[in-house]
Amino acid sequence: MSSLKPSTADNGFILTPKPLQNPFTSDESYQRVLEWYLPRDVLAAIKPRLAKFAEEAVSDEINEFISDAESHQPHFKSRNVWGARYPYDRLVTAHGWKELGKWGSRNGVISLGYEEEFKQYRRIVQHAFNYTFSASSAVYSCPVSMTSGAGRLIGKHLNSVPKDHPFHELYRLITAREGNWISSQWMTERPGGSDVQNSETVAVYSPLPSKTGRYGSVEEGDYLVSGFKFFSSATDCNMAFMLAKTESSDQLSLFVAPTRRTVVVNGKKQQVTNGVRIHRLKTKMGTKELPTAELELENVRAHLIGPLDRGIATIALLLNVTRTHNFITALSCWRRGMAIAKNFAKARSTLNQPLWTMPMHLRLLANMEVKQRGALQLAFFTTSLLSFIDNGFPDERAQKNGDYVPLPDSPEKAEIILRTLTATAKAVICKTGTLALQECQEAMGGVGYLDEPEEPEFNISRLMRDTAANMTWEGTTNVLSSEVVRHLSNKDGRHLKVFGEWVQQATSRVKDAELKDALTRAWAEFFRMVDSNRGDLVSALAIGRQLMFSLAWIVSGVLLALDAERDNDATAFEIGRRWVLEGEGNIGEFHLPNIVKVRTRMLSAITVRDRINWDCRLVWGVDLPIDAATGFRAPNVDRIPAKL
Ligand SMILES: Cc1cc2nc3c(=O)[nH]c(=O)nc-3n(C[C@H](O)[C@H](O)[C@H](O)COP(=O)(O)OP(=O)(O)OC[C@H]3O[C@@H](n4cnc5c(N)ncnc54)[C@H](O)[C@@H]3O)c2cc1C
Repeated sequence: MSSLKPSTADNGFILTPKPLQNPFTSDESYQRVLEWYLPRDVLAAIKPRLAKFAEEAVSDEINEFISDAESHQPHFKSRNVWGARYPYDRLVTAHGWKELGKWGSRNGVISLGYEEEFKQYRRIVQHAFNYTFSASSAVYSCPVSMTSGAGRLIGKHLNSVPKDHPFHELYRLITAREGNWISSQWMTERPGGSDVQNSETVAVYSPLPSKTGRYGSVEEGDYLVSGFKFFSSATDCNMAFMLAKTESSDQLSLFVAPTRRTVVVNGKKQQVTNGVRIHRLKTKMGTKELPTAELELENVRAHLIGPLDRGIATIALLLNVTRTHNFITALSCWRRGMAIAKNFAKARSTLNQPLWTMPMHLRLLANMEVKQRGALQLAFFTTSLLSFIDNGFPDERAQKNGDYVPLPDSPEKAEIILRTLTATAKAVICKTGTLALQECQEAMGGVGYLDEPEEPEFNISRLMRDTAANMTWEGTTNVLSSEVVRHLSNKDGRHLKVFGEWVQQATSRVKDAELKDALTRAWAEFFRMVDSNRGDLVSALAIGRQLMFSLAWIVSGVLLALDAERDNDATAFEIGRRWVLEGEGNIGEFHLPNIVKVRTRMLSAITVRDRINWDCRLVWGVDLPIDAATGFRAPNVDRIPAKL
């Protein structure tokens, strides 16, 4: 009889990766970036809160909520069994989805950006929490981002309206930690989302004959808005911003309205729709937990916000926040995907050798580590500018302590740089993150391609399909590239000059000669290309994507170099060298080869074997073990047990 035992469904080999670790305490790059951007007292205050929040983010309870949200996708009903229309369309979302929203709000994923506690640093702290939240939010990160953007937009208008104006009430509702309102924005229509100028939505001035107080309540705006909106996410929101044309003008103005209003029927208060009807819900590749609808608007009673005919400029205040949420979400999902792929590599062996030490697999993971760290710097730098522009810059003493991040020398210049970097970071990080998640999927073999709603913990497909939406909404890669190129070329090249002065100032702080030289040359070439094309915008736009990706590479390179030098951290230096000298932040066809040049390392040359060892240090924080995998089937060796 054969001694070989066939496997059965229950017997034989079953891979058992360990549970995911705490995304904050186990992630050195996360802690490192916060150490640079936040002063000690702020960091000390948030560390225990973040550690607890991150522990919850990978807990069974949160995974069950995600699973529930994935398993029960939104649906709606507009009529009762008799055929009568409901007072408002019943949009049903999962219990888990709603609970994830409450968990996020309670922990400040919106309000931290507006509360006084962390002063100038509040937006950085807010995104420190969103970096953990988003990957565990089942796309609740989307309503969070829109509500957070609404906070900034309304907040900026509070000083110009009296205390009894309903905007104060709206602000309180959206920035609360408990029972907060969710806000969304309805801009995209059938004629276009990138270019909303051809909007077919119309607002008519029609104030109520009598209203509460001088300005009316939240529900008593002076305008009636009607039209058809083609993509409206977080349809279960409490309020929304709408772009519409007024009869007197072909320009867009911005309006804000609650989605429901209160009426009294037979002496009883009742909620009815504020003129919003769901035409249908979209069936999407990802973000399935998030309702996105086509909406018919009929006489939605709304308040004008911002000046008439200045709708696009007004809503930009909001979009500049939502775009930061987009890239933080992409980074959050990307890092979670890496954590899953690494967990898998630790458990898996192939060719009887441990996958986590396979040279080619190590190189793949190390390359991703470099890219993610560069993107993380770009993200937190952009976020810090937004935080300081809105809440004041840290004083010089705070900046000098510990070689603070290289801030521009005036708020006006910071505005120009922020506008460039918000679009750049959103486009580049969302694109890179989505591509990286595809690699994470493949790094898990066949299981990486699975998409089980009941098992969100190791589900990279979920992270991948959800992150992909971030490439399109709030501006596609093309649209944002165009914005960057036009902005830098504007004002007779003044914006380019301001940006250049900041890059040069920051680069002058880099001490390593090789890094400094490479960055200086790259900027000179970038400047030359944009400057020489200023008179020929058509040519500049044709290479707009490559210019924007090259710009992102330069800025991240400068930040990585300075980050390494602030404490001479060997790992940070290796990442900086790979990025700047070897073009590792390079994303295929997206960069211009005359800007992102691959060089031979001079002073810091390392051997091929050293490099493999460094791969291991970058990914696992340890030297390559002596019994590391060879990557091919080694003769006369049964098994090489490298332990981590
Ligand atoms: C999951 C999801 C949720 C969404 N939620 C919302 C929401 O809540 N509210 C909302 O208002 N919208 C929402 N949208 C819509 C989204 O913002 C638009 O789809 C997006 O802005 C693009 O508009 P469009 O679909 O009309 O494509 P188009 O504008 O027709 O673009 C088509 C192609 O043309 C390119 N293009 C357009 N303009 C230029 C240019 N100037 N230069 C070069 N190329 C250009 C684009 O890059 C794109 O590849 C959502 C979309 C998705 C996928």
